[in-house]
Amino acid sequence: KLVSKKWKAKPTAIDLGDNVAIKDGEMAIITGPCSIESEEQIRAVVDHCVENGIKMMRGGVFKPRSSPYAFRGLGLEGLKLWYEIAHEAGIKIVTEVMQTSQIEEMYPYVDVYQVGARNSQNFNLLDGLGTVDKAVMIKRGISGTIEELLQSAEYVFSGGNEKLILCERGIRTYEKASRNTLDLNAVPILKEKSHLPVIVDPSHGIGLRAFVPQMALAGVMAGADGVIYESHATPEKAFSDGQQTLDFEQSARLASWIRESFSMR
Ligand code: PEP
Ligand code: MN
Repeated sequence: KLVSKKWKAKPTAIDLGDNVAIKDGEMAIITGPCSIESEEQIRAVVDHCVENGIKMMRGGVFKPRSSPYAFRGLGLEGLKLWYEIAHEAGIKIVTEVMQTSQIEEMYPYVDVYQVGARNSQNFNLLDGLGTVDKAVMIKRGISGTIEELLQSAEYVFSGGNEKLILCERGIRTYEKASRNTLDLNAVPILKEKSHLPVIVDPSHGIGLRAFVPQMALAGVMAGADGVIYESHATPEKAFSDGQQTLDFEQSARLASWIRESFSMR
């Protein structure tokens, strides 16, 4: 496989410009709400990122909701608004693309296309992203194996797009005490098998706000190249995933713990 270390031994670095990168030897911190909700909310999160030296913001404008009646996002208009505010502040945008037709319309406003867990094996979408000159972060499927995640990455890489990031976000197991089971085993295994950077998503991985920091730090110690987690000014009022979302005080504390843990690794 092209994404394997056997093919390419040197770790792949994802350079997003302006000295922002996701790569081996650095610790990427990506935070923001599950859903982009309003201009006011965007400004609050951008300010939070700037204040804490966080260079990448996550947020969904096209949301893959389990129920069709749940909030599905602000769409392209929301993305344009977000882009204007974020880029003025020098913050990079990580956001989910749900279907092939969105790739082109989103292109000017995105720094990293996120492929969500539910679309992890949407092979047409992966093919489409293979021909784009922009970074792609692929999340592990809800019941996806490590091998399947690598095969999904292979679709994009073999299409010509080598700017790829792998994300462990928890898998579905028989355990119901947590939303998912964050498979920390995947981190060293992916790092051993592939030259691509690996990041962890403790928010979706455990689904419980109180335990997101512990699992984030466990991911750092497992060898991850970055952490992506959900934050919001008022998590209890978030349009989606509030139960696993940190407030800004918790987020600021976690960001500094992540950096400290990484420096001790
Ligand atoms: C998200 O990042 O908000 C999301 C929907 O994640 P996942 O695809 O991992 O469920
Ligand atoms: Mn979410």
